[in-house]
Amino acid sequence: MTLPLDRRTLLKGAALTGLGTLAVDALGARATAATLQGSLPTDVDVVVVGAGLSGLVAAREVARAGRSVLVVEARERVGGRLLNHRLSSGQVIEAGGAFVGPTQNHILALAAELGVATFPEYVQGKNVYDSQLLGRLKYSGTVPPDPTVLVDAALLLGKIDKYAAEIDVDAPWTHPKAAAWDAMTLAQFIKKNTLNSCGVENLIECWTQPCFGADPSELSLLFVLHYLACSGDEQHVGTFERNSDTAGGAQDSRFVGGSQLVPLRLADQLGDQVALAAAVTRIEQTSEGASVTTARGVVRCRQVVVAAPPPLVLDIDWYPQLPAKRHALLTNMRMGRLMKADAVYPTPFWREAGLSGSGTADHGATRAVFDNSPADGSVGVLLAFVGGSTLDTYGAKSAAERRQAVLEGFARVVGKQALQPVEYTEQDWTRETWTRGGPVPVMAPGTLTAFGSALREPFVRTHWAGTETSTYWNGYMDGAVRAGERAAAEVLTLL
Ligand SMILES: Cc1cc2nc3c(=O)[nH]c(=O)nc-3n(C[C@H](O)[C@H](O)[C@H](O)COP(=O)(O)OP(=O)(O)OC[C@H]3O[C@@H](n4cnc5c(N)ncnc54)[C@H](O)[C@@H]3O)c2cc1C
Repeated sequence: MTLPLDRRTLLKGAALTGLGTLAVDALGARATAATLQGSLPTDVDVVVVGAGLSGLVAAREVARAGRSVLVVEARERVGGRLLNHRLSSGQVIEAGGAFVGPTQNHILALAAELGVATFPEYVQGKNVYDSQLLGRLKYSGTVPPDPTVLVDAALLLGKIDKYAAEIDVDAPWTHPKAAAWDAMTLAQFIKKNTLNSCGVENLIECWTQPCFGADPSELSLLFVLHYLACSGDEQHVGTFERNSDTAGGAQDSRFVGGSQLVPLRLADQLGDQVALAAAVTRIEQTSEGASVTTARGVVRCRQVVVAAPPPLVLDIDWYPQLPAKRHALLTNMRMGRLMKADAVYPTPFWREAGLSGSGTADHGATRAVFDNSPADGSVGVLLAFVGGSTLDTYGAKSAAERRQAVLEGFARVVGKQALQPVEYTEQDWTRETWTRGGPVPVMAPGTLTAFGSALREPFVRTHWAGTETSTYWNGYMDGAVRAGERAAAEVLTLL
């Protein structure tokens, strides 16, 4: 993605003007008191690794309880998988996590407290199903009206919802059928339970590729059932619809000004308790305390909260080394492969044609398309999630070929006007050093049952935050907030 302003230049500028505390985000320069350089405190109660949503929430809880805390972040910005992108028109869209919906009460409450408003995702009009065989079909609702798979898919999803409702979100490995469900992939389950299994698998990819950055053949069935079980809250059972829907589902709404405003405002509150450009390379724990080695020096503390994406935790040099079960768990949590591609138009022209801008395709680069226009609709933006094997294919093409493939996919959803955007931008999360994929890590068969119980188990003085450790909406912003709150409660009990 091309940033509107060159970050290096801004950083140099900050150093030259003596503004050692100027933090830079994807929108250009933004003054927060988070430090980019200079010495770190040598001793605090708690060190939090990672200034994504989860780490910042954990740190704020610790600070609110009157304990000293330092968040150490590898990047030169906060927000992790939340990243705002400013369009040349001045409007903001999200290059990372964006959507929120009902039952995601923790992120919604936090955003409201921080003065970040939501607006509903545009869903008026018809969605479009772009089928190689059937051409362009308009439809309403969640599942595209492909007669070759419709009955099969409906029965399959009914079964999946029924099984998901039986899963204990805290301990999916305790279900009597956990071993059997964890022994097969979602693709194998589809094959066993449908007549047109190729067609259904192809359709289900339109959900798994944006949702996991992976194909059904890469995902343990138990992992998928657990993920759906977690798509709810203490009062509402998680379902496929709640997970995949726009209105009433996880894609119900977006944040005015972009989701990264939430971590940016949290960081503002934490001030110089957030240290940027401070990648953690070693964590040493003894009976006396812990010492966390960062790119900006060593900080001693009594408790540690790690809120980095699971695969990145393996890059830290641990003393004593991570327990075998946790190591095996992390080794088996591979990040999904996901890119967001956005095309910008002078207006959301498809709305006048009675189209929602949402589309599903059984082929091509744009398997899942959304209207990603800003709240005021002053420009039109179409978003494609390019994930899993689709990203393998199109990520390997030249930038020009990929752009053309994405625009042609948009044109099949909303018409030829889509071929002429005023702006086009891509954010490939597999290229992000400190995330290495997205939107979440996925689990292949055998992982949850063998190693899942290590997910939240503290290790000496280390407690685990990060969205992946949440029991509801894990993988989402809401899960990140919940996990940060839980990890903070754990360390506060011990301090
Ligand atoms: C393309 C995409 C689309 C998504 N869409 C949605 C959506 O619509 N709705 C939704 O709710 N969620 C969505 N998500 C998921 C959501 O963004 C994440 O669940 C959430 O932001 C995770 O927050 P976190 O704090 O747990 O982790 P992260 O945001 O990954 O934060 C971890 C932080 O740790 C830092 N770090 C890593 N290693 C080190 C180290 N060694 N030392 C110091 N710091 C380190 C990283 O730089 C990062 O800042 C999406 C994600 C992606 C990528």
